[in-house]
Amino acid sequence: MQSLTNRNKPVDRAPMNFWERLYLPEIFKGMIITLRHLFKRKATIQYPEQKREFSRVWRGLHVLNRDEEGRERCTACGLCALACPAEAITMEAAERELGEENLYREEKYAAKYEINMLRCIFCGLCEEACPKDAVYLSETVAPADYARKKFIYTKEDLLIPNPVTEPEAYAKAKGLEPNENRLTGKR
Ligand code: SF4
Ligand code: SF4
Repeated sequence: MQSLTNRNKPVDRAPMNFWERLYLPEIFKGMIITLRHLFKRKATIQYPEQKREFSRVWRGLHVLNRDEEGRERCTACGLCALACPAEAITMEAAERELGEENLYREEKYAAKYEINMLRCIFCGLCEEACPKDAVYLSETVAPADYARKKFIYTKEDLLIPNPVTEPEAYAKAKGLEPNENRLTGKR
């Protein structure tokens, strides 16, 4: 058959010589290569017991931020969704009711906020676009799963624990020690 490109290489089908037909020399050659690799620096690590250090600019799973009083920062302006090149973010806005001032920082908030992690390319543009410091990419790896629907992260999955009512969980999510609980804004 005629080749479409000139990148094809003819397969060498030369008959085996005497030593190749003996097989043992080839097996020893293979074992020497294996033995050489035993003394080389390993390319693999014992994950999850060992973990590699991430780059300082590494971006992981998203977090929806709260302010120092525990109120949700997101005002459902939609700028993150507009900035997202993968169209991974969807949200529904709602008006804050009287008496909900301790829950939501602004008069409008995201009643629903979802990120499709199968679409997300972890570019960080949503974080850049947010005027309220409400979304940032943490250092947590998005866990693997078998079901596609598990990769749709809802607001409940993304929202950081409340620093007032759950200070320890909040400190852990922020990567702070429990007695060092302070809001540092973006990482
Ligand atoms: S990190 Fe990039 S791709 Fe992922 S949700 Fe944000 S803007 Fe979209
Ligand atoms: S996360 Fe930020 S940019 Fe996105 S809707 Fe909320 S306030 Fe707007």
